[in-house]
Formats: sequence, C-alpha cells, structure tokens
Amino acid sequence: MITINEHYLKLQASYLFSNIAKRVNTFQEQNPDKEIIRLGIGDVTRALPAACTEAFHKAIDEMATDASFRGYGPEQGYDFLRNAIAENDFQSRGADISADEIFVSDGAKCDTGNIQELFTTDIKVAIPDPVYPVYLDTNVMAGRTGTYEDGRYRGVIYLDSTKENNYVPSLPKEVPDLIYLCFPNNPTGSTITKAELKTWVDYARENKALILFDAAYEAFIRDESLPKSIYEIEGAKEVAIEFRSFSKNAGFTGTRCAYTVVPKECAGFDSNGNKQLIHPLWNRRHCTKFNGVSYPVQRAAEAVYSEAGKNQTRALVAGYLKNADLIATEIKKLGFDFVGGDNSPYIWIQGNRDSWEFFDMLLNKAGVVCTPGAGFGKCGEGYIRLSAFNSYENVEKAMKRIKEAL
Ligand SMILES: *Cc1c(COP(=O)(O)O)cnc(C)c1O
Repeated sequence: MITINEHYLKLQASYLFSNIAKRVNTFQEQNPDKEIIRLGIGDVTRALPAACTEAFHKAIDEMATDASFRGYGPEQGYDFLRNAIAENDFQSRGADISADEIFVSDGAKCDTGNIQELFTTDIKVAIPDPVYPVYLDTNVMAGRTGTYEDGRYRGVIYLDSTKENNYVPSLPKEVPDLIYLCFPNNPTGSTITKAELKTWVDYARENKALILFDAAYEAFIRDESLPKSIYEIEGAKEVAIEFRSFSKNAGFTGTRCAYTVVPKECAGFDSNGNKQLIHPLWNRRHCTKFNGVSYPVQRAAEAVYSEAGKNQTRALVAGYLKNADLIATEIKKLGFDFVGGDNSPYIWIQGNRDSWEFFDMLLNKAGVVCTPGAGFGKCGEGYIRLSAFNSYENVEKAMKRIKEAL
C-alpha cells in the first residue's frame, strides 16, 4: 500500500489569490466599463534589461553550432556567473564571499524550500508573521509543525512583525534552531539596520542556531547605511545562509535564475554535538537533485553585472521605486500609518479596518486591487499590501482614484 505524507493534509488551502480573483471578476462583470488597476501583484511587470536579452540571444546562437554547443554544465553554476556574483554582490561591499560559496539555481523559492532537508525534523523553527508563505508551508510539508489552530500552526515560533517593533521582529522567548529573516521584507516592505541584524547574528551564534536570510529585494535598498547582505555583519558566515534572486532586480521571474550563498565556515551539529559543515552537504544535495540552470539563462544573468547591465537594472529598480514613493506619499497624505515604500517595492498599510473590508472598498470604490494583509498571517489582519510593480501612469491613476474614493 502506498501511504502518503500526511503532513500535506495539514496545509491550509491558500484561498488568498483565488479569493482575490473571484472578487475582481465579480466586480468586472458588474462594472464592465470600469478599468481595474492591479497593485496587488508580487510579480514584476517590465521587460528584461537589453543587456540581458542580448547576452541571452548570443548564448542561444552558441547552442546552435556543434563547436560552441554546451551540454550539462556544472551543477553549482558556471564560473563566469559565480565569479561575477562574488565580486559584484559581496566583495565590492566588503563581504568576504568567494565564488565557490555560491550555488546558482532556478529560484530562491525552491532554494528556501529545499535547504531544510539538510536539517532534522525535530528542530524548532522561527518564522516571521506576516510572511512569504513558502517558509511556513515547506516546514509543514516536512513535518516540523503540528496542526493548524486559530490561524497558526502548532510548534512554530512565530516572530511577530508589528507596529510596536517597527516591523522588525524581536528575539523570541523560546529559543529556535532555524530562523527565517527576509529584508527588505515581503510583504511589509520594512528594512533592518546593521545593528538590528547584528543582534540576530549574535543570538544565532550564542544559541547554535542558523539564520536563513532572504535578500531577494536587496536591489531596492538605496539607503547606503542598510545591509544588503547578512555577510556585511561580523560573524554571520558561521551562522547564516543567504538567498538571492535575479527575479526582482532584473525581471527574471519568468526567466528563472537565483543563487544561494553557503559560506565554508557555516555549520550545524550532528547528534553527538559535533560541528558539521553545511557547504559539503548542500553541494552534495545540489549535485544529486539538480542539474544546473540553462547556459543561456546564466549568460543573461551574467549580463546584469556588465556596465550596461548595471545601469539598466538600476534604472529598472529606480522606476519601481519611483512608483513606491508616489504610493507612500499619497498614503501619507491620506493619514494612514504605513511602512515600506522606500528601499522596497511594497507598502504595508494599516487600514483601521478588516483586511478584506479594506480590499473590497478599494476595489468597489476605486477599481484598485491590493492584497489583503490577512493572507500573509495573523499579524497581517487589519493591513493591506500595495505593490509598486506597475507602470507609473497606472500608479498615478490608482492613487488619484483612492484619494477620491476616501
Ligand atoms: C519574489 C521572491 C523571491 C524570489 O523567488 P524566485 O523563486 O527566485 O523567483 C524570494 N523571496 C521572496 C520573499 C520573494 O518575494
């Protein structure tokens, strides 16, 4: 008899996006002439930088002749890309990360999910609330949680991100073994200072814990005092793994390329309490279960680090940041409490009403789609998320309509 992994049965069906779609469709049927503006999406909307598509085309042409054709590449990624990443994203910022500590992959989503198979089921996991749902659901699948009760899974240490802590979680009362942090944050758009991040690094060192640091939105950081990488913090290399992606900085959500940094010093412990390095374990896992990102995609990603690519990605992100700034400015004028909107494409707004009520009001009165905060966790109740991933014209129009509606 083939028995199934019953932990999957604990998962809550994600009604968030289907529920949004249903309400938007109903509104559109009743108001066929009304143009809807979507500020709910967590996906980029602008084309790949020209430097990337040029490199992409060129690499595809290389695949078309026997002389330059490439078959299986190194599972960890080609050296040309790993070197460019190490130099530009880390060494240039004073973070001592070398190319062989970088594992190129097809997504930060899969990497954040896959990494936890290196750890035992009985570890205690700390997960932010509100949260990018992947961290939570993958731990449910792995059997690291109990059942779902009153909006939360039993056995998880939730790290509340609220107005009281300025949306940067405080150290938990119960000591975790694995800690998820994401800054700039999705969904709140909040950022973490070096001093705050150091508190977490020190805490992980003291407690023999490991931090999984999701830096998917680092390109949106314009405040030079904020850390773009956790390895800018002293002592982080022993206790942190970092996830990065080309999805949000260079528009690779449909092209697929990301990477994970596992420093050589980073360690866990075996059942005898002996230190075990994580790098060889992740290398083994990666080589056994993954066969590399396609060559043309890695060439396209490499182009992000060319002179033209740097300028183009910076301009791309600047466009979204301009939208975010407009949203934040208008929301402030309307008197709402909010976080994000600078150093981030997201604006997290306290609505002083139920999340879905706020959603319905914006949809019905302004024809604007947002994401109800309650969909990201218990602490998201009462909030909505607006996203800057749209055209400036649409954002202008949406903010004007929201002003009129309120
Ligand atoms: C978009 C996003 C990612 C990137 O995921 P990919 O699989 O690389 O596209 C990672 N983490 C968070 C929090 C995100 O919002």
